[in-house]
Order: sequence, then structure tokens, then C-alpha cells
Amino acid sequence: MLKYSEYKYKRIDLDDFKNKAIHLIKNFNSLSSAEQQIKYIKKLEQIMGEWSTYASIASLEYSRDTFSKKNKEENEFYDNIQPEMQEISSQYADALLKSPFRYDLEEEFGVHIFNLKEIEGKTFKPRIKNLLRKESDLCNKYTELISSAQIDFRGNKYNLTGLGSFHSDADRTTRKESYQARFDFFEENSDKLDSIYDELVKVRTKIAHDLGYKNYIELGYNKLSRTDYDDRDVALFRQQIVDHVVPITTKLNNQRKKILGLDHLYFYDSINFKEGDPKPKGSINHLISEAQIMYRELSNETGDFFDMMVNEELMDLENRKGKAGGGFCTAFPTYERPYIFANFNGTDHDVTVLTHEAGHAFQVYSSRHQPLQDYYWPTLEACEIHSMSMEFLTWPWMDKFFKGETERFKYLHMAKSLSFLPYGACVDHFQHWVYENYNATPQERKEQWLRLEKIYLPHRDYGDINYPKTGGIWQGQLHIYQMPFYYIDYTLAQTCAFQFWDKFNKDREHAWKEYFNLCKAGGSMPFTKLLNVANLRSPFKSGTLQEVVSEISMWLDNINVENLTLENNKK
Ligand code: ZN
Repeated sequence: MLKYSEYKYKRIDLDDFKNKAIHLIKNFNSLSSAEQQIKYIKKLEQIMGEWSTYASIASLEYSRDTFSKKNKEENEFYDNIQPEMQEISSQYADALLKSPFRYDLEEEFGVHIFNLKEIEGKTFKPRIKNLLRKESDLCNKYTELISSAQIDFRGNKYNLTGLGSFHSDADRTTRKESYQARFDFFEENSDKLDSIYDELVKVRTKIAHDLGYKNYIELGYNKLSRTDYDDRDVALFRQQIVDHVVPITTKLNNQRKKILGLDHLYFYDSINFKEGDPKPKGSINHLISEAQIMYRELSNETGDFFDMMVNEELMDLENRKGKAGGGFCTAFPTYERPYIFANFNGTDHDVTVLTHEAGHAFQVYSSRHQPLQDYYWPTLEACEIHSMSMEFLTWPWMDKFFKGETERFKYLHMAKSLSFLPYGACVDHFQHWVYENYNATPQERKEQWLRLEKIYLPHRDYGDINYPKTGGIWQGQLHIYQMPFYYIDYTLAQTCAFQFWDKFNKDREHAWKEYFNLCKAGGSMPFTKLLNVANLRSPFKSGTLQEVVSEISMWLDNINVENLTLENNKK
């Protein structure tokens, strides 16, 4: 049993790697049989898996300690050779698409790989390599700026994640002042944040134009390998959110006012209970051992999986200085293992981030026998089904973490998940506007954000906190900088995760089987086909969202908010 710390890491020898890969690719179509081509594909997959393993380690180590000079250099090395890899990958795609044995290869690997390679071919030409490098540098600049934050708050210094725990404090003044401290940091760095984003929009648009696109939107979709839907489908979905979810958020807001005993809710009243949000009970180690019991009880598969994550030290969960923010899951193909990264800060989010990332990790682990790298992970909206559904599948065990506050947690989790849909759609709509109006100024972008907020988040009131009031709040949303058009994926997936919540309530065993089947299918199919594997209704179909949220709305109606106060919750 190998532990993560025992994994081998090195910089690959780029020339050697390229020689090997290009040799295989060049000779690919002079091979005289499908069997031989399959053998070559397997060899290519193996060496690309090695590269991807090293690159994952480099990136992870950098996230674990952004202060380390060595980590930064290793990560930059792999970032810098990314365009070279893309070039090789694009040559591989070309060769594959020209194969005279396509039918046999489809028999072996399925048709989806050809769809993926076709769409990939539309996202790269060697001449854009320098622009891609520039884009990746700008993304790193953003990460550095955000993680450099050392915010003075009530006599202590915090990074943004550390400061975050005060945002849901029971005391209104603490919440407000901690938000004020956060936005002071954004205000101080406003010029940098504006110019990084402006340059990103310009460089992405330039890439799009170089590749023959009208703007970055279609290219962005292609880069996300969306082979089965387009921006019109997404626009329709967003409209369903406006029609069917925004009205429920009004109801949620009224419930919250009642619970909090407030006449008016400001942005910084981002809590659901007077006494503060429920907090997980116990140390990180305690939470992990409770999670181990939970996953053994959920299923044999998750039990073995999570024990492996613990025993092989495949998680880094504590918040430290210098550690990059957020949570994510990555994987090392050579070792067939995933890794979970998070920043626990003592809030309920610690539990959801753990179950969320465990969902990702469980999927990629379940897909490890898929024959191609491209099939290890599905496209991102499908990936988020595994993670967000796992948050709900683990509901019956939430008392392990929240004890007497379990019902409060469930209400909060559901309310947050539902309220997230309009926010996610707003972020997505904003980005469509930005890339369509790529010559807009930073100021115009902020004004547009405020216009969209009125449609999707009509209840927001920032009070006298200036920075978000002038339309700058989205600059804290790293996806907008680093992963264009990714954000809607969370809302598409949430629509599916709600369905799993419902299925799991009705028939746990059957729902688990459907979930596991979905995980095993990995990325061997596009999003809408994967939905069929798990018997999920498509979010793009008019009516789906309305049906799904009506179940949730009923559940919310049955909540007696008076029972959610801490007094009544102590058993
Ligand atoms: Zn996720």
C-alpha cells in the first residue's frame, strides 16, 4: 500500500516525451490493423497518464503550499508545457479521426471519444500557444493575489478563507464587519482585479478570433467538451430558474426573516439562525473517523473507498497559511488514486465540502478501469452530479457530525442548495454578456452585473458596504476568472442532485445502484446520455426544473421553522 507521500515525482523530459508521443502518433495511420492501432492507443494513454500524474502532483503541491518557491516553480513548469501537451493531444486527435479502422475503434472504445476529439480539434492550433500561456499566467496572478490576502480583523490576521468563518457568525456586527474587511481587501486591489480580468477577456477573445470564432462563447463551450448542447439550451434553463426558483427564494427569505426575527435582510445576514449556523462537532480527525463509519454503512463500495483515502493519506483538509483557497479533487492516473483538498474552517461547509469532494473522488476511482484518459472524468456538469448528489445521499448520517443540530443543518443545506440556482445562473449569464461584449470596460461589466443581480437575486441588499454595491462582488468568484462558463454546471448538476435526493428518500437501495452505475460510466458518454444511465430527467427539458423544485418546495413548506431554534433542538 503506497501512501501519497511515497509517490514518485519528477519533471518529465519534454523532448523525450514529445519524441515518444509523436513517434506513436506519426506511425499510427500506417498501421495495418485495428488491433495494432488499439495497441498504440494504449501505449499513448500510458505515457500521457504519466505526464498527467506528475502535473497533478505539481499542481496539488503548489496548492498545499503556495509560499514554497520550489512548488511554485514545479507548477509553473507544468503550466508552461501545457500548450505543448495540448499540441500533442491535438495531433493524437487528428490521427484518431483519420483512422481507417474507426468502426473497430468505436467497438473497442465507444463513439464518444470521436465526438470528444472532433470538438477538441476545434479548440487548438499551434499558433495560439503563446496566447494560452498568457492566459494561464493571468489565472495564476489571480490565485496569487487572492491567496496573498492578510486581513487584519479584530487584532488577528486572516486569509480570505479564515475570515470566512466570521461571515456566518451569530452576531450581526461581527458578520457585517468581517464582510467589510473582506471587501476592503477587494477595494484596495480593485485596479489589479479589474486589469487581470480585462486582460483575460481580451486574450480569450483573441484566441477565439484566431481560431475563427465570432467570440469566446462557442469556443468556451467546446473547451468544456459540451458535445450535446449549446448556449441556447443553457439560456432556456436559466429562464426556468428565473420562472420557478426565484419565487421560491422569496419564500425562503420570508422564512429566514421569521427565524432571525429581522424585518429586513441585508447581504451580511447570510445566516439562517439567530444562534448562528450549525457547526460540526469535534476535531478534523474525529470528523474523518465519523465519515469512515458513514461510508462503510452507505455501501461496501464507499466503505472500501473511504478507508483507502484515509489509509493512503489522500486528503489534506486543514486550513493553513499559504495554502490555496477552496476545495477540489484531483487524481493520479498512474496510481489509480484520487486526492481531496479542502480548507476546513469550523463551519457546516466543512462537512459538505468533504462529502462533495468525496463524491468526485469516488466517481473517478470507480471509473479507473475505463480504457481512455478522456473517460476518467465526464464533462464538468456531469462530474458535479456525483459530488452534489453525494452531499444528499449522506443525509441519513448527518447526525454523526451535527448531533442536536442535524435538522438545522438539513434545512440550511437545502435552502442554500436551492438559493444557489439563481446565483449560479447569474454568474453564467454575466459571463455570456462579458464575452459577447468583449470591448466593454471594467466599469460597464460592474454595471451589467448589477442589472443581472436584479433579475436573479432581487432580494440582495448590500446596505452601506460599498464594493459589492458598485458591482464588484463577482471578483471573488474564481470561476469567473479561471474557468469561463463552468459555473452553470453546478446548477445543471444541482437539478440532478435534487432528483437523487428524492429517489434516495423513496428507495435507498435502488437509488444507490443508479448512482454507482453513473459513477462507473465515468466520461464514456456526454452529459445528456449519462442522465439516461441514472434515470435522471434532463434539466434542458422544459418542465423538469419545475417538477424537481416543487418536491423541494413541499419539503420546505413542511418545515416548522419554530422547531429549528437551538433551544427546541437540544434533545
Ligand atoms: Zn465539485
